[in-house]
Amino acid sequence: MQTQKLVLTCPVCASKDVYYTCTPDCCFNHVCGECRTTFEPVTAATGAKVSGVVPPDPLPVAGDPTVACAKCYGIAVYRAGDETLVCAGCGAVLVLELTEVAPG
Ligand SMILES: [Zn+2]
Ligand SMILES: [Zn+2]
Repeated sequence: MQTQKLVLTCPVCASKDVYYTCTPDCCFNHVCGECRTTFEPVTAATGAKVSGVVPPDPLPVAGDPTVACAKCYGIAVYRAGDETLVCAGCGAVLVLELTEVAPG
């Protein structure tokens, strides 16, 4: 399954100009480049699994949106469809949720 880089949409202004500002060791705080809203994405497992997840090419770089897998806590989580994420580490099919929304 070919995947694409994660894209996060600001929950306040719907901009996709969103940056990851921290490190996975710390937290998943992201900031919107338009309105400075901050939020943390989390994933929830759907219970489904896939195999043969192909990471996007090129791979995400530091500062690109990043989220942890709800199952294995890895960060090799990519977009498989508009609403669907998959973990390349364990194959879990995930859905995205945004928490800790703090309007800028
Ligand atoms: Zn925004
Ligand atoms: Zn996983």
